[in-house]
Amino acid sequence: MTARSPSPLAGALDASIPLAAGLFDEIGRRTADTAGVSREPYSPAEQVAVDILTRTARSLELEIAGDPFGNCYFTLPGRERGLPGWLVGSHVDSVPGGGNFDGLAGVVAGMTALAALRRAGSAPACDITVMGIRAEELSSWYGGHHGGHIGSRAALGLLPAAELDSAANSRTGRTLREQMRAAGFDPTAVGRGTPHLLPGKFRGYVELHIEQGPVLADQRIPVGIVTAIRGAARARSCRCLGAYTHSGAVPHEYRSDAVMATVELVRELDLQWERARAAGADLVLTVGMLFTDGRVHALTKVPGETNFCLDIRSQSEATLGDMATLAGCLAQDIGARRRVRFDLGSFSLQSPATMDAGLRSQLLDGARVLGIPHIDIPSGAGHDAQDFVQAGFPAAMIFVRNTHGSHNPDEAMDITDFALGTRLLTWLLAQG
Ligand SMILES: [Zn+2]
Repeated sequence: MTARSPSPLAGALDASIPLAAGLFDEIGRRTADTAGVSREPYSPAEQVAVDILTRTARSLELEIAGDPFGNCYFTLPGRERGLPGWLVGSHVDSVPGGGNFDGLAGVVAGMTALAALRRAGSAPACDITVMGIRAEELSSWYGGHHGGHIGSRAALGLLPAAELDSAANSRTGRTLREQMRAAGFDPTAVGRGTPHLLPGKFRGYVELHIEQGPVLADQRIPVGIVTAIRGAARARSCRCLGAYTHSGAVPHEYRSDAVMATVELVRELDLQWERARAAGADLVLTVGMLFTDGRVHALTKVPGETNFCLDIRSQSEATLGDMATLAGCLAQDIGARRRVRFDLGSFSLQSPATMDAGLRSQLLDGARVLGIPHIDIPSGAGHDAQDFVQAGFPAAMIFVRNTHGSHNPDEAMDITDFALGTRLLTWLLAQG
């Protein structure tokens, strides 16, 4: 650790880091396969992670609880049990062939904070609960219609029961309802009665997570304080319809070339992105799954159709709306000029989740007090924290530097960076 303070809590935290390293090592080893780390939602591997965390909670003499959706809760009682407590969490599952730290880092950080508080011998002012969340990464394992983030949305009362039947495991075909039941949990509790977690009972939700992009590593900064989780405007099945004609015989002015028109649209969107960035807007934009139909298209044909998808993300809802509208206008202009028709379909909109201003400024204070180098950073990826924001919880996120990206087995978080992020988290929790 680069920043040290003489407080007993800082010493207790340093002494608790080997516990964290041991948890990463044991859970990583026991949930690894040939592709990386694979903790499938509601699978034995996900349960292994929960079991190891539960064993650790028992050794720290924490209160242990669960909910009907398989989430686990480990609580260090506070001095005033009636006060709203802190909820610290992240997910225990992973993508197939993923890395060990995506999700798990946040749960282990919470456990490490509780271990340090126990070791320092001071009960916190209010309860602090660490939540190990199930099935955040469902989209990597299940097809069909669903919104992912199953554990958090179920506990917050945000998961429609219909998603349990429309989500199907890509390998086994089992529905999420069947899999949840087979894992020993109660899908009938989804969407029934009062949510398991109510915002009024908590001071806030705090999630530590590895950064999944390159920014912290590139800037040589160990810790990021998240401003917001970007929202998204997505068009999943866009088409450009032109006409298949002879590639040699048809002059330019007679063509309805779907590829050339699509390329112009993509280039225009890229230029707009540059302009928006120059004007200080927060925006990322991706065109993907871009293809012609190989069964119809051929070397000697002018391409008559392309398919693609469009993923626009921003911390600003207005920017999302503006870019989606602009894409439609560009498609119309280019289509008219190039004698093709674009069908972008409808955009699905996911609102940005802004982190709580009060918690963010507390974290900034903490980083300054503790001498931890940090920057403000938006989250491009989705996290359980966005569901807590949607449910009305004040939420905050701490990012920890991570190299080699994420959702792959090479993601790499230095334990000293983890210790700095966890120190900041523990500082916040100890403020009462
Ligand atoms: Zn994650």
